[in-house]
Amino acid sequence: MCRHLGWLGDRRSIASLVLEPPSGLLVQSYAPRRQKHGLMNADGWGVGFFDEGAVRRWRSASPLWGDASFASVAPALSSNCVVAAVRSASVGMPIEPSASAPFTDGQWLLSHNGVVDRAVLPPTSGAESTVDSALLAALIFERGLDALGDTVIEVAAADPNARLNILAANGSQLRASTWGDTLSVLRRDDGVALASEPYDDNPDWQEVPDRHLVVVEDSRVELIPLKGSS
Ligand code: GLN
Repeated sequence: MCRHLGWLGDRRSIASLVLEPPSGLLVQSYAPRRQKHGLMNADGWGVGFFDEGAVRRWRSASPLWGDASFASVAPALSSNCVVAAVRSASVGMPIEPSASAPFTDGQWLLSHNGVVDRAVLPPTSGAESTVDSALLAALIFERGLDALGDTVIEVAAADPNARLNILAANGSQLRASTWGDTLSVLRRDDGVALASEPYDDNPDWQEVPDRHLVVVEDSRVELIPLKGSS
């Protein structure tokens, strides 16, 4: 499954978050270390960030490792709040730039690491693609990010095989869920990173237990068990 990354803190370059770390998303696109589903993430990538309140995105349906233009520009892009992902498409899903996370409603950037049966999702409008993750994102936007935990529990009840690791940001907050896949958190002096897997060997990375909600705000990290956990 895909790998995602979130950053909230001091302004950092996109290259320092995505391309330069020894096990960052660039390396995870061909050699992830903790991926349980899929071998590599070659079906696209996306980077979203907040720029004085505005959402900016760069998405692609090609492998991140082949994008020399992005590699050239990424050192010049910087933000205090970033959501990025590399994609391994689930069986039967479209491969197109609009199917790559992060998705947005104009206020939040959102990535989904996992899979869900599209037939169980209540109808919504405004999905960016027919990929399951875009339909799920539209539902989460409609319900509101304050209800992220409730929405995850409801969707998991409707599809017990769903994996629902969500990572979202709005410029001043990160919100994430663990439901079936890995997530780690790194608290640094200059901010907080959330990542499907650690992007370096810093011993301060901590694994988030499964079936939890993570809320990051003002450099505080809160972990909340999700009801319905077994
Ligand atoms: N199901 C989503 C897709 O097909 C996400 C896949 C993933 O997490 N690898 O894009």
